[in-house]
Parts: sequence; C-alpha cells; structure tokens
Amino acid sequence: AYVIALPCVDVKDKACVGECPVDCIYEGPRKMYIHPDECVDCGACEPVCPMEAIFYEDAVPDEWDGYRTTDREVFAEV
Ligand code: SF4
Repeated sequence: AYVIALPCVDVKDKACVGECPVDCIYEGPRKMYIHPDECVDCGACEPVCPMEAIFYEDAVPDEWDGYRTTDREVFAEV
C-alpha cells in the first residue's frame, strides 16, 4: 500500500483524494491516511501531492521511517 508521511501533517492539501480511484484516502485530525487494505497500489496519488508526502510503503525515506506503518496502524482492528 501507499502511505502518507510527515509533509502532510497540518497541511492536508487533499489533491490526492480526487485522484484515488477507490476513495481510500481519509482525513484525520492532522494528516490524511491511506487505508492499506483498500489501496490498490495504482500510484495515482503520489505525483499530485504538492508536499511530496506520499510514498509506496517500502520506499519511505529514512528520515520518515516511522510513517511506513502510521497509516496501517490507524486502520488496524483493535
Ligand atoms: Fe488510492 Fe492509488 Fe493512492 Fe492507493 S495508490 S491511495 S489506490 S490513488
């Protein structure tokens, strides 16, 4: 799945939402979140993010390593 990293925090531009064919990008209090089970890995959201905050989960830059699992954890069953 694709994930959304630190540059989205307190920005939430939402350009990604309009590009997602399966509407799996949701708004949180401080950033947007991609539902990992609904994301079809199309990559359409990545280039439209003005903050360049979106990455495939295995390609998140080291400085934002924690964001590899942030979106997944938000939607995890508790
Ligand atoms: Fe939606 Fe595609 Fe981005 Fe996944 S990769 S969040 S399906 S636009």
